[in-house]
Amino acid sequence: MKFIPLHVHSHYSLLEGLSKPHKIAQRCVAAGYKTCALTDKGSISGSISFLSALKDVCVCSHQKNIHQNKKGKCSGCKCEEFISHQIKPILGCSFYNEYLEDVIILAKDKDGWTNLIKATSEANKPELIKDNKPTLPLPFLANFSKNSWICISGHLGSGIGNLIFGESIAEAYLCKSYDEAKSLVREDWKRVVVEEIGKYQELFGKENFYLGVQLVDAKQVPASEAVAKIIRWAAKKTGAKCIASCNSFYPDKQDDSDHRILVCNRNKTTLSKIEHNMPPKDYPFWRSKNYCIPDNDYIIDIHTEEEINNLNIINEICSSYNILGKPVLPLFDCPDGLSQDDYLKKLCRDGWKKKLRFSSSDERQVYTDRIKRELDTLVTAGLSSYFLIVADYCEWARNQGWLLGPGRGSGAGCLVSYLIGITDADPIPANLIFERFYNAGRNTPDRISLPDIDTDFPQAYRPLVKEYIRNKYGKDRVADMITFGTYKGRGAITTVLSVHEACSFDEIKKISKAIPQEASISDHLQLMLEAHGESSTILWTLQNIGASLRDWCFINEVGELDGPMAKLFEQAIRLEGTKKSQGKHASGIIISKERLSDVCPMAYDKNDDQLIAGMEMNDLEAGGHTKYDLLGVTLIDKVMGIQNRVRTGNNRNALPVSYIHNVDNDEEFEDEAY
Ligand SMILES: [Zn+2]
Ligand SMILES: [Zn+2]
Repeated sequence: MKFIPLHVHSHYSLLEGLSKPHKIAQRCVAAGYKTCALTDKGSISGSISFLSALKDVCVCSHQKNIHQNKKGKCSGCKCEEFISHQIKPILGCSFYNEYLEDVIILAKDKDGWTNLIKATSEANKPELIKDNKPTLPLPFLANFSKNSWICISGHLGSGIGNLIFGESIAEAYLCKSYDEAKSLVREDWKRVVVEEIGKYQELFGKENFYLGVQLVDAKQVPASEAVAKIIRWAAKKTGAKCIASCNSFYPDKQDDSDHRILVCNRNKTTLSKIEHNMPPKDYPFWRSKNYCIPDNDYIIDIHTEEEINNLNIINEICSSYNILGKPVLPLFDCPDGLSQDDYLKKLCRDGWKKKLRFSSSDERQVYTDRIKRELDTLVTAGLSSYFLIVADYCEWARNQGWLLGPGRGSGAGCLVSYLIGITDADPIPANLIFERFYNAGRNTPDRISLPDIDTDFPQAYRPLVKEYIRNKYGKDRVADMITFGTYKGRGAITTVLSVHEACSFDEIKKISKAIPQEASISDHLQLMLEAHGESSTILWTLQNIGASLRDWCFINEVGELDGPMAKLFEQAIRLEGTKKSQGKHASGIIISKERLSDVCPMAYDKNDDQLIAGMEMNDLEAGGHTKYDLLGVTLIDKVMGIQNRVRTGNNRNALPVSYIHNVDNDEEFEDEAY
């Protein structure tokens, strides 16, 4: 008999979940699980990372990428070659209702996934954000279900679980004995629980609704035991099926101490202070270490056979499906009924006449060969409209009298871009190679890579370019993109030392300053990542420039961390790379063919009070979305300021500029005093 983890939070449940997706995969291998669901809080942003982590986990529990050194052997163990453990993913979400109680939703199939996208987009609308969290009242949520979801409620913290205590729910979390918990159960519990279950069954479909019985924390959290007993009773009364459930916030039992750092961080307090002033719903984390992905033997022992069997029924109902896709480009509106490809060719011909002068027929031949090859590649890959869209907003900006960057990096290696006015420099005299700009060799039938065209705009006018694009393609089809802030070396050690109150703030500062910024050692970190599947700035510092940290931590003769703060450094290293905050990508925007909230989970961006595409850049591209890079460059503003004053005597740069492009500010975070 096998348990199946269906209630799992990753670090995309920001500051609530600890687990990086590859750690979830690793834990599933260790515990022998062949199916795992992801149910982050109000978010499905981690879905694509989760899918690839499960797909790429070897039977040795390491990720595929660290098998790619010599002869495909794993550098983390003695594994000879990559053999997929083949864990089936189920995508889901833990939605909040208007009282911030949760309900677990699992997508049964691809329609279920699409409906999850629509529901998360809806829940993230500004008017539904409560206490910084996306919410949806149950009937609204159920409207998106359309028989494509499994719905689970019942544990402490869920709508049905909490209802059992009514007004006394906060007290219930805190109580210390089963009798105390029982005394807090509302008098009319029989009636209200049965009624509430009926409501869920009606809203989501009787066969789609399950009651989650959570016993992993029953001994340590008395309220949880009281809830579990009532849920089992109510199941018999209503005919609802029960499943064994474990709300997992960290992969392994031993990770609970790292998870507590997040809880303290979220509450802006320390380990010693939080015990005295605990938010009720965090209380269980200090009583039970069982909010992990549990061992199979342990959990099947405390549940009935039926509660385990029902998990396997859900597993059979949920099918496997693919959510990755080729880029879907919006069609550019071409004049004279021309097709995308023909219009691109026409613009190239126009540019050819305007921009090129040949001194010999040999020279002309070089250009002719080049443009043929480029157009062939781009048209075959279906990228004509991508170029038309970029050329159009460049032309619009130039027509406003603004200067644009000449084209940067590999983007300058494309003759098409030069001819149609995306870039300003002819790649051929400069010997710039097209294949470095776009390598069609990387394309496969299911995966077309997109070119990377960065366009530099005056910083002050970037929002206006975006406004133009929004008006042209539709406000609901254009959006900024999410980024997530993670604990980096300095932030991780600062957080760990502060939360433990390990030393004075001055000393914390001294330690943190001895660790370099990530950007300055990015090559080393990349090598570390390739070899071990994870990189750590703190570990790299100790290994390479550890002298200044020696009083606190060092690596001893047997290669272990040593010194008075070794344990804390180890914890900080584990914390590195964990997501902790949400921000907005500085330059990239998404332009979509369809309404974004239907095809991409949208996320609320509180800084601009707007919805942004709720998956990170690479995940968006893997999901078939196309990203365009609009960079704001202040240098151009300066250059233009001079020109404008000379030419027109009127400084157009005087427009207000108050656009914050990236809210993730690590310095600010580090200086946060506890
Ligand atoms: Zn392996
Ligand atoms: Zn291995």
